[in-house]
Amino acid sequence: MAVMINDLCINCAACIDECPVEAIVDEDDNPTGEECYYVYPDKCVECVGYHDTPACAEACPTEGCITWDMPFTADNKEHFAGGNYIDGNNYVMDDADAEMPFKDSVSMDDRAARKPVIED
Ligand code: SF4
Ligand code: SF4
Repeated sequence: MAVMINDLCINCAACIDECPVEAIVDEDDNPTGEECYYVYPDKCVECVGYHDTPACAEACPTEGCITWDMPFTADNKEHFAGGNYIDGNNYVMDDADAEMPFKDSVSMDDRAARKPVIED
């Protein structure tokens, strides 16, 4: 996905207007039904081409709330599908060639571990 918002989110709205590609929705529009904000993995570009650090994480006041996730690419199609993707119900990557930009400086291990984007 790029980045994801977890259940530490306090629905403060600080992130939503910072996203340059409108990838974030609030709790009312969260497709998972969770009462927190949500990042659409097929829209998030990890702020590549916009900011050095994801703007949502810079704006978020809640420690550890926004984490890395796997890149939204065809290689990770299974990650985002069905039960393998805990943040979505059968999230389907319609286009097998989908390739969203991602920061290649972030390791796949850190992504798999869902490390916070900003760590103290
Ligand atoms: S990392 Fe950037 S593009 Fe992705 S949701 Fe956050 S602000 Fe939007
Ligand atoms: S800034 Fe952080 S705590 Fe506030 S709505 Fe966004 S993800 Fe949730």
